[in-house]
Amino acid sequence: MNFKFSNQMTLDHIFQAAQEAFLSYKNLSGAKKADFLEKIAEIVEENRSAIVLMAVRESNLPEGRINGELGRTTGQIKLFANLLREGSWVEATIDPADPNRSPLPKADIRRMLTPLGPVVVFGASNFPLAFSTAGGDTISALAAGCPVVYKGHPAHPDTSKFVGDCISQAVKKSGLPGGIFTHVEGGVKMGQDLVKHPLAKAVGFTGSFSAGKSLFNIAGNREVPIPVYAEMGSVNPIFTFPQRLKNELVPLAQSFVSSLTLGAGQFCTNPGLIFVPRTLAERFGNAISEAIQGVAASPMLHEGIAASYYKALNELQLRSELEWVKVPDAKHLINASPAMAEISAADWMMDDRFQEEVFGSFALMVVYENDDELKSVAEKLHGQLTITLWGDTEEFKTHKELINLLEEKCGRMLFAGVPTGVEVGFAMQHGGPYPSTTDSRSTSVGAHAIKRFARPIAFQDMPNDLLPDALKNENPLKIMRQVNGKFEV
Ligand code: NAP
Repeated sequence: MNFKFSNQMTLDHIFQAAQEAFLSYKNLSGAKKADFLEKIAEIVEENRSAIVLMAVRESNLPEGRINGELGRTTGQIKLFANLLREGSWVEATIDPADPNRSPLPKADIRRMLTPLGPVVVFGASNFPLAFSTAGGDTISALAAGCPVVYKGHPAHPDTSKFVGDCISQAVKKSGLPGGIFTHVEGGVKMGQDLVKHPLAKAVGFTGSFSAGKSLFNIAGNREVPIPVYAEMGSVNPIFTFPQRLKNELVPLAQSFVSSLTLGAGQFCTNPGLIFVPRTLAERFGNAISEAIQGVAASPMLHEGIAASYYKALNELQLRSELEWVKVPDAKHLINASPAMAEISAADWMMDDRFQEEVFGSFALMVVYENDDELKSVAEKLHGQLTITLWGDTEEFKTHKELINLLEEKCGRMLFAGVPTGVEVGFAMQHGGPYPSTTDSRSTSVGAHAIKRFARPIAFQDMPNDLLPDALKNENPLKIMRQVNGKFEV
């Protein structure tokens, strides 16, 4: 279903349809839900060329990137379909009864995950496909058994509606109730009203800190608070150690610049901070400067995002603590001109502004004097999606204390490569301590994303025939279960 204008009546209608759909959809077998998800992937794939054309036009992102993003989107859908077919994600746990226990007999208790109910999902501007209509939040909620009320992002309205229609077609072809997926369009107030609706049970969001935090506050202030899984800003620091940096100075500078400028820097894992030892700062700065000069300015998602980028850079250019390795060329308007500035670690630690994300291809090179200063930096660092360490094996060993500290500050720690390029898989963690997200226990990418939209329920002494298949004595789904504390199939 697609709704354009909202008033309370429309919203009530949308959520009532979603709630009604939920009561039957939640009991659909994992295999049937998997068929439904695969139908979505199939219809999206059938419409690949139309979707790519639309998304390229609306996002300014190159066709190659959008084509790849569409593959990532359908690949992600298939991952959740496989997860549902395998079935063990529900964490079935069984403590069998012991009628002979003394002094009191022990009851039979069986626990598993069950879906939350209708979920509100906000589309993201920077991934018109993979984090939007049929993206990770929508698909993981549908996989968990939750209907989705989806608010399209105004930066790509046609793509959003078109993919929404693909999902609605899949709902219809699978013989499911229409309330399972609703696409809505509207502004800030409409988004807030969705989160406030009493039948909404959780929220998935990717975007700015201010919007994510505001939705989190709204959800917390409801009469019945609900979880908000908001992925917000992150500057994804890279910590470099002298030996490795000295040995691979130019290739590392080139890798850094490629990661920084990929997609005009509009990735949540874009590296916006790099810590460099004083002894190598000048040489590394020169290598970066050389690599960055060769990168042409490229168009950002829309004029508003480009304006925010240049506004942030203009403010930073007034700061006397910064020396510019590469000054932005502001004549580019919608095109992001890559930029980089240098600051001492001592100055960086004095002002939290230097930790804020500048969305786009801008980074700060922070120059540290010694390991003690690096430890102070780590203590001061805000929560991040990722932290990357560039060192050799010996350096990792001698920095164990620092690494231990940094583990507290991120969701994913890399010991090679760059933070951009988030693999969709079973082990991926894309979520970190606040303020990078509002719930560091969750991920918005990979198989574990499904857990955000489920809660545990225990059945005590429920007759075997009435139990969900996942908990029946005979284990008809043949899933991995924990029985009396031991994992078994
Ligand atoms: P945004 O401003 O956070 O908007 C995302 C969604 O939230 C839109 O649907 C928007 O509604 C809604 N929204 C905005 N403010 C709200 C509020 N106070 N209460 C409730 N809903 C609100 O993100 P954006 O438009 O994609 O880009 C703006 C900035 O966000 C960028 O410049 C960048 O700094 C940041 N961003 C970060 C990431 C990341 O991964 N870290 C990704 C994307 C964007 P409307 O329909 O009115 O727009």
